[in-house]
Amino acid sequence: MIRINHLSKSFGGVPVLRDVCAHIRRGEVISIIGPSGTGKSTFLRCLNRLETPDGGEILIDGCNILAPHADVLALRLRMGMVFQSFNLFSHLSVVENIMLGPVKLLRHTRAAAGTRAMELLEMVGLRDKATAYPAQLSGGQKQRVAIARTLAMNPEIVLFDEPTSALDPTMVSEVLAVIQRLASSGITMLVVTHEMKFARDVSSRVFYMDEGVIYEEGAPADIFGSPKREKTRAFIHRLSTFRFHFTPAPQDARTLNAQFTAFAEAHLIQPFRLHNLAMLMDALYSTVLPPTEAGIDITVNCAEATGYLDLEFRYLSPITDPLSRHDEAGDTFRLLTRRLCESCICADNAIRLVLK
Ligand code: ADP
Ligand code: MG
Repeated sequence: MIRINHLSKSFGGVPVLRDVCAHIRRGEVISIIGPSGTGKSTFLRCLNRLETPDGGEILIDGCNILAPHADVLALRLRMGMVFQSFNLFSHLSVVENIMLGPVKLLRHTRAAAGTRAMELLEMVGLRDKATAYPAQLSGGQKQRVAIARTLAMNPEIVLFDEPTSALDPTMVSEVLAVIQRLASSGITMLVVTHEMKFARDVSSRVFYMDEGVIYEEGAPADIFGSPKREKTRAFIHRLSTFRFHFTPAPQDARTLNAQFTAFAEAHLIQPFRLHNLAMLMDALYSTVLPPTEAGIDITVNCAEATGYLDLEFRYLSPITDPLSRHDEAGDTFRLLTRRLCESCICADNAIRLVLK
């Protein structure tokens, strides 16, 4: 369906895309991953001509969309795009936002566009928000409306550029669930994402972009399980970090719990290890080392591919090593760490645990 040959694009003499080549079949769901600044957004923007490439070819069903006479408008109607920022019209209700394109560009009647908009709202789980205004919605809800609005144009291809990266971590999964449902509907999709679980579980192929090219591509099991090239390996094995400033304020435990659960889900931490980690965190802040007013900087590092997982509690006031305490709390904590941790070190007012 889409054939990309030797695509190149520079900005002010700096090459961003050097030689991008790819074939995409109808119905494929491609995840595009890679470090930031490697041209993932530029690549998507070239595909729907928001950006004009310097060289190469993009053929859609055999038709070169970079040719001088190419019908860019017709192309844009076949291809929808969902951005990181939702770009809804704030003065229009949810249903009006979705109806706008079909009425103005596809010349659908308001009645037909309204019926279709309600179907799409049902699909994204927001039927009851039809008459709400964007300002009344959460980030996750706005992005689901933006997806419904894109689908209202009946695109054959949908491009997603980091659709969840502007969202609060607790709202990521509701948006990914909608995209996942779409993926199984047969629509062709290219999704630039940092959500590795999504890339692994939902896509038919993964493109790893680096150095201005598709540096490695393959089935998710291959890219995540046995990446062949050095930079892909380094990227897949890199640490993902969760940070939280924790204080004795009562709402902090709840917020930490919600955000950390979302992080753990996104980064494939297995449920039993999540449970172990939660036990260790709980033991630390509720018994052995409760937070002072100054608070604790909590950091969790994990590497999805290797399963490495560590936890650090850095106190902003002096602490005593809970492992050298000789009371009941100390004993319980020692037992717990012996059972669940590879290593446990206390130094510089921080305690650092590497989990088994
Ligand atoms: P990614 O999406 O992988 O993070 P981008 O495609 O956004 O990467 O950007 C790649 C590089 O191109 C970056 O160095 C960025 O600063 C540069 N770039 C992107 N768009 C423009 C633009 N319109 N003008 C100048 N430089 C740009
Ligand atoms: Mg980008």
